[in-house]
Amino acid sequence: MSSDKKAANLKKGSSRLLDAKRVVLKIGSALLVDEEHGTLHRKWLESLAADIKAMRGRGQEVVVVSSGAIAVGRRYLGLSDGQLKLEEKQAAAATGQVRLAHAYQEVLGHHELIVAQVLLTLGDTENRRRYLNARNTIDALLRQGAVPLINENDTVATDEIRFGDNDRLAARVAAMISADALVLLSDIDGLYTADPAAHDDARHIDEVGEVTPDIEAMAGATRTEVGSGGMVTKLTAAKICLANGCAMVIARGADEHPVRAIWDGARVTWFTPKATPANARKRWIAASLQPTGTLVVDDGALNALKSGKSLLAAGVARIEGAFEKGDAVFINDQGGTEIARGLSAYSAIDAQKIIGKKSGEFEKILGYRGRDEIVHRDDLALI
Ligand code: GLU
Repeated sequence: MSSDKKAANLKKGSSRLLDAKRVVLKIGSALLVDEEHGTLHRKWLESLAADIKAMRGRGQEVVVVSSGAIAVGRRYLGLSDGQLKLEEKQAAAATGQVRLAHAYQEVLGHHELIVAQVLLTLGDTENRRRYLNARNTIDALLRQGAVPLINENDTVATDEIRFGDNDRLAARVAAMISADALVLLSDIDGLYTADPAAHDDARHIDEVGEVTPDIEAMAGATRTEVGSGGMVTKLTAAKICLANGCAMVIARGADEHPVRAIWDGARVTWFTPKATPANARKRWIAASLQPTGTLVVDDGALNALKSGKSLLAAGVARIEGAFEKGDAVFINDQGGTEIARGLSAYSAIDAQKIIGKKSGEFEKILGYRGRDEIVHRDDLALI
């Protein structure tokens, strides 16, 4: 590649990260934890915190998905060196997670940033109701300026329902919160045509638009020492990201200021989606979900929807069918024509009680304060 083209690529790559409004950073155990002593690489973590502060200073929202609970916890619990049994891993995670969260709070606290711990299971990202709750909670945290710190809820996840690796968890989180970019900090600076440790002629790949079988064949089944991911799980993560309109980057994270290195133009591999997160989400709502009920809206609401607004309960004239909170619904005009589809923030039973009403009255009627909108515009696709 010519040096001009290389420079242009680096510039494109770094602006991709700088332009992303919402970014998920995935930190692997191998970068964070000294495995022998079960201690955290403090200076490295401090440099990461400084990068996060710089991102927040630019107005970017940052979510951290960090591994390390098991690697930190096993030493404190005095567990043996070898392979741990599932319950030992869970026990290790239970103690390690406390130390991990504490360390993040400390280093980010130096920059006046607040850490909020969110532990998720596979089910939380699959079941739509729980997924919406997690999405809304993380949204609320980001609105308040906090940095959500996410890990798998290792103590309750059993083998069959585990992510097991945080690459996929991070991708699911990125999809769930409609992130613009996922940064996977790794021990290697991206994807190569072959394992560079074993093949001198292995070439680095700067950009991938689609994870094809050829690309998958390049990944092989590499494994790092401490973490449980490898290139294979990174490609699985890439597929999730691309399908959800989220860009993903694999970057070498071992040196201090690992995220700054990316916006400074380090060599990385970018996976670039065709759609934006918002469009991918709308397509998912419009095409992949089977609505089980209908909200019939009045003319005022119809116009509001067409101009890109959320659907308020006040504009719903009638409800048909049965649905739970988080289920997909048809949104029809009074003549029966479908105008949109969306995810309902209320079950049919609760929605029935609040239609025609203002959001200020919901708490008195329902006994709890739910969302102001019956279908938020982010959860809505015009047909
Ligand atoms: N959740 C695990 C931990 O915190 C790590 C999973 C992974 O290695 O990606 O130790």
